[in-house]
Amino acid sequence: MTDAGTAETVPLRLQSTVTCPACGARATETMPEDACIWFRECPACGDLHRPKPGDCCVYCSHGDTPCPPVQLGNGCCASSTR
Ligand SMILES: [Zn+2]
Repeated sequence: MTDAGTAETVPLRLQSTVTCPACGARATETMPEDACIWFRECPACGDLHRPKPGDCCVYCSHGDTPCPPVQLGNGCCASSTR
């Protein structure tokens, strides 16, 4: 009576609330499922922000939800650091 083991269905969250590092404005945005966003322009002040060193995208750095590839444990397209 085993129950098929561990469920591997990870509920993907595609919405991330990004906080602008320049002005602190927060905006909830929908992330692309399979792409990394390297640059993002703040809708409030127009600041262009980038990922912090070691992060793969602006959502991982400035959002409250990591990007979908990271949620899935795949790392990200920027994990090419050898
Ligand atoms: Zn801003």
